[in-house]
Amino acid sequence: MIETQTSVKSESLLKMLLGEMIRKQATDMHISADSSPMLRIDGKLIMMQLRPFSEEMTKMLAYSLMTNAQRRKFERDLDLDFSFGVKGLSRFRCNVFHQRESIAISIKSIPYEIKTPQDLRIPPEVFQFGEVKNGLVLVTGPRGSGKSTTLSALIKRLNEERRSHILTVEDPIELVYNSMSGIVNQREVLKDTKAYEIALASVPRQDVDILFVSEANDAEKLLSTLKVADMGLLVFATMRSRDAVSAVMRFIDLNMPYYLINGALRMIISQRLLRRICPNCRRVVTPDDDLLRSIGIDPMKVKNYNFYRGSGCPKCNGTGYQGRIPVFESLKITPVIRTMIQAGTSVIELWREAVNEGMIPMRKVALRYMLEGETTLDQVASETISYQ
Ligand SMILES: [Zn+2]
Repeated sequence: MIETQTSVKSESLLKMLLGEMIRKQATDMHISADSSPMLRIDGKLIMMQLRPFSEEMTKMLAYSLMTNAQRRKFERDLDLDFSFGVKGLSRFRCNVFHQRESIAISIKSIPYEIKTPQDLRIPPEVFQFGEVKNGLVLVTGPRGSGKSTTLSALIKRLNEERRSHILTVEDPIELVYNSMSGIVNQREVLKDTKAYEIALASVPRQDVDILFVSEANDAEKLLSTLKVADMGLLVFATMRSRDAVSAVMRFIDLNMPYYLINGALRMIISQRLLRRICPNCRRVVTPDDDLLRSIGIDPMKVKNYNFYRGSGCPKCNGTGYQGRIPVFESLKITPVIRTMIQAGTSVIELWREAVNEGMIPMRKVALRYMLEGETTLDQVASETISYQ
């Protein structure tokens, strides 16, 4: 009896928390013992107006999210990653882990609806794969930089336009795609396949045209991704890295065989999200000259421009920001860049050559948004880097 009451209680509490998360357009929610739940809104954590959760309550919530099999796995591994859906609300990706001998929960919301590149403000050049018929296209950025959102828009478009067999290998599956012009099969690591590398090794026997793999971060995953991409299909993968040139340096640092880089690596798209100034409390400010110089701008040259920031209002929870804007850079692996990779180049040399060959660096894109009054100097300085 008591058992039933507690599970009903935790279920309704959970529903309330997830509902609040969606209502406030939070991307993540964190629940830890002895603390009030936190929501991540536009990149910043905001505490919910609730009393701190006890250790017992946190555990109850975590267990109410898991199936029996997942509970057993969690008790064995102490860490568990899974996804779930709440009808009429959203899908969520959840990680449950231990900290200071109690349980903590991180929940990320995954919208049901897949947005179009226009809605996401992805510039057309990012989606120009006309000349890339095969090989590896990497989408890179730090955690929470919108890589999966970009890739989902891309899968959606390819699914609409091409009569192809699209296969995804994900850990775990986030968005679910319906087959359209072609067919989409989605495999989840540990559910539909024993391991990432095993799923990739089967690809040549599955008549796949386009493969999507998530988080090819370590040497083993990267190597098996490159090998598959070298077999003539088009492969898209996500990887965590600061920017496009750092992703190339990763291939060198991880000693990826040059013949595979040469044969398979085609393009690297890197992205970040900049916080957008709240339009409700936006005002003109005097920029900090030292900060301008630190990002390579001569204060004299921009004295005719207006700089803005939000002063904070109820609409933006007092943060001065509302929503985010993605910034991209895309680096083509040209013959010159390939030769530089083989010779073991430095990150600065690589960056200079990429810019020479037409890459518009993310910092430059971000500066344009800043001068258009969409984001702040602080955001540009903290979120983008330059090798100049
Ligand atoms: Zn505001």
